[in-house]
Amino acid sequence: MSGACFLVTGGAGYVGSHLVQALLARGDQVVVFDDLRQGHRAAVPSEAELVVASLSDRARLAEVFASRRFDAVFHFAALSLVGESMREPLRYCVENLSNSLTLAEAAVQAGCRRFVLSSTAALFGFPKHTPIDEAAEVAPASAYGESKLMVERGLHWADQVHGLRSACLRYFNAAGADPAGRIGEDHEPETHLIPLAIGAALGTRPPLTVFGTDYPTPDGTCIRDYVHVADLADAHIRVLERLEAGSCRYNVGSGTGYSVKQVIESVERIGGRPVPHGFGPRRAGDPAVLVASSEALRRDTGWSPRLGALDDIVRTAWAWHAAHPRGFDDRRPN
Ligand code: UDP
Repeated sequence: MSGACFLVTGGAGYVGSHLVQALLARGDQVVVFDDLRQGHRAAVPSEAELVVASLSDRARLAEVFASRRFDAVFHFAALSLVGESMREPLRYCVENLSNSLTLAEAAVQAGCRRFVLSSTAALFGFPKHTPIDEAAEVAPASAYGESKLMVERGLHWADQVHGLRSACLRYFNAAGADPAGRIGEDHEPETHLIPLAIGAALGTRPPLTVFGTDYPTPDGTCIRDYVHVADLADAHIRVLERLEAGSCRYNVGSGTGYSVKQVIESVERIGGRPVPHGFGPRRAGDPAVLVASSEALRRDTGWSPRLGALDDIVRTAWAWHAAHPRGFDDRRPN
């Protein structure tokens, strides 16, 4: 039992809600700050306090910071669709930067000195080498990636000038669901491979389209590094202690890549039924291979994925989607 108190923005969303579960399990107090545009009320357990508000609401933020002393802020709330960011680049850059730095400012003013940012592998764009470590060149290929890079830079200056220590966690492909089955992935629209493949197998979504079969990979489809959302939550908790030594940034992935075809095979193995699918052209902006080196995180914090195998990830995701074919079911029409 650690008994600390944390603010989690975006705590009603996919990765944020899994962190909230992990913090509550340690005996921490949690305040979730979420505007519920993407998040789900039902994803927030009753033991956590839920504040429904926008991060652009400075007065509400100040009120929340005045209500208690937070040991750290975990910041997940953001626009996060790569494709959408290429249609509305300015909205992505303005909103993600402005909301994040408004939050950092409120933390500094309240004397809270620890900040953990949900960042992204999209910072690396089309990487020259794989696996990707923290020394790899940062060159976003989307406005989404750029917006997160700008936030990282803002946090750097907040540390230099105000002593706000930050950990920027650059995730690769977050996947899977709470092994206890309480929460899982529920995006609308859904664009991610694993929920779409499972939905196709369950018949709750249309057949899957495989985006591109002519990549320079062994089976011609893209390779990604899938990291279980519970392992991601664990990484957030571990970096808190690391912050005592100063600000840091880490890549978070399992270190193993799986192709789109391997993901389909895993879903078929776990689900025991076929994934109806067809083949289409490449999706714009998709690099052939994205695999993380998380050596630095492992070395500095002792983190290692407990659900690193693709079948483990798919098993928890399958259980969630099979039990909740309409997701949290708290805002969709029949
Ligand atoms: N993908 C696919 N069909 C889909 C969705 C995704 O073939 O309907 C592929 C996509 O091209 C990528 C991989 O699956 O190579 C993972 O995509 P996802 O959107 O889940 O994550 P991303 O890597 O884009 O963050």
